[in-house]
Amino acid sequence: MQKQNKKSAAALVCAAIMLAGCAGPENKITSSSFIAMDTYISATLYGDKGKEAAGKIKEEILRLERLFSVTDEKSDLWRINHTAGGNARVSPDTAEIIGKTLEICEKSGGALDITLYPVVAEWGFTGNEYKIPGEDILKSLLENTDYRRVKVAGDTVSVPEGFQIDLGASAKGYAGDKVIGIMKAEGVSSAIVNLGGNVQTLGAKPDGSDWNIGIQDPFGEGYIGTLRVKDKAVVTSGGYERYFEENGKRYWHIIDPSDGYPADNGIVSATVIGDSGMFCDAMSTALFVMGTDRSQEYWRKHRDFEMILVGDDGTVTVSEGIYESFSPSEGVKVDLIK
Ligand code: FAD
Ligand code: MG
Repeated sequence: MQKQNKKSAAALVCAAIMLAGCAGPENKITSSSFIAMDTYISATLYGDKGKEAAGKIKEEILRLERLFSVTDEKSDLWRINHTAGGNARVSPDTAEIIGKTLEICEKSGGALDITLYPVVAEWGFTGNEYKIPGEDILKSLLENTDYRRVKVAGDTVSVPEGFQIDLGASAKGYAGDKVIGIMKAEGVSSAIVNLGGNVQTLGAKPDGSDWNIGIQDPFGEGYIGTLRVKDKAVVTSGGYERYFEENGKRYWHIIDPSDGYPADNGIVSATVIGDSGMFCDAMSTALFVMGTDRSQEYWRKHRDFEMILVGDDGTVTVSEGIYESFSPSEGVKVDLIK
């Protein structure tokens, strides 16, 4: 079995930043990078308020990690998963992220399902001890999954006995939204944050132009193109981020709730662009599970986000709202969805 591949966030999504000039306090740059949520996190803040804000955002991400970790015995998630059958008291952040993620579980018709955690763990994606579970085991684990049975009431969360949840699909996006909120409160108006493939931008670049976000080529080391955005989250879910290989076949960490196997419905990378990092994070995982046809159908029906899908046949599909802002790399052909 090959080792897991976790590309550094820096390689996953490249945020190319070009400055007009670096004189004066408004062009002061603060950079911060650290590991949290098992992910490389980096932030670049512009202006003289950046330094103080950078310290606060690190504290905030570490605080959220302590709440949302499935393996930390003091976390809210641990308490929920070990009070199965009863009510677990949680912090407002935990109640909020679970409530909002459940909405996307529902909207995605169950493609996203936070109760899949026992299946994810059985594949070894927690703890890095990969194995291919037997079909019987998967079937029996799937009996104890169904997001509709997770209940949030005020500051309590309950899951039925035998159920366990995890927020791996939406927590980095939620953290990104909190980070944007902190930077705004601190008076920062231009910043870019990368949480392991989740890029969130605050405002525009200091010279007023758009940020250029490179979208990783899921088949190689380069980019399929760059996207120009301001004040947006750009979140990618891909089968190339965390996986193991056995007998030449690749098994990744995004699971199809219909059978408990890694989702293999035609998409190798789904990027969602929108206002909320949490929404984009949850939705990119959901689209990856839905596959090409269902994702396009979903987008046409809702149109409350933009997307870039890369199919397993190499096709790149871009939704109408960002078509003009996306510059494909040389040789990349783009299909428009409208
Ligand atoms: P995404 O597509 O955003 O999410 C995929 C993740 O969602 C999977 O890893 C799984 O957890 C879950 N998932 C899979 N299929 C579905 C589905 N159909 N519906 C809903 N959810 C699904 N990893 C470690 O190895 N060690 C750690 O110590 C560690 N600590 C963490 C602490 C926190 C607070 C969080 C949030 C994550 C942690 N992780 C850890 C997990 C790691 O960072 C995840 O791989 C990451 O959250 C997945 O993000 P992604 O962008 O790669 O994929
Ligand atoms: Mg996600």
